[in-house]
Amino acid sequence: MIRYALACDQEHEFEGWFAASADFETQSARGLIECPVCASRIVRKQIMAPAVAGAKKRGAPAGAESAKRAVMMEAMARVRAHVEDTFDYVGDTFAREARAIHEGKSEDRGIYGEATAAEVKGLVEDGVPVAALPPEPPKKSDVN
Ligand SMILES: [Zn+2]
Repeated sequence: MIRYALACDQEHEFEGWFAASADFETQSARGLIECPVCASRIVRKQIMAPAVAGAKKRGAPAGAESAKRAVMMEAMARVRAHVEDTFDYVGDTFAREARAIHEGKSEDRGIYGEATAAEVKGLVEDGVPVAALPPEPPKKSDVN
């Protein structure tokens, strides 16, 4: 089983278990994955990237959270745009590539891509700094 960090189009974060990495795409395309908070079926894997400024803080009080949300969303969109503009997309090989760069075995550059929760845990334990990239704003073409 593979555990993925998921997020819906309302930015709720949750986890999903899948027998294989392709299962997420299949189930998501068929509308079988539902956000446990708002029941949205527009769900995506959270994209992992090396730790970047502006990463989401967890556990802030709910009131402060909502007051700052608009500002945070704008900052997060900027962080994401910066990463997508300047980093190499490496897809499912993110964990392997991040480790290779950390160990000097691969070209030192910014990368982003998908990783399982287990892969992220392994990277963090080995001192490779990674963080979840802010979610992508929902695209109109996805809402069908
Ligand atoms: Zn939701």
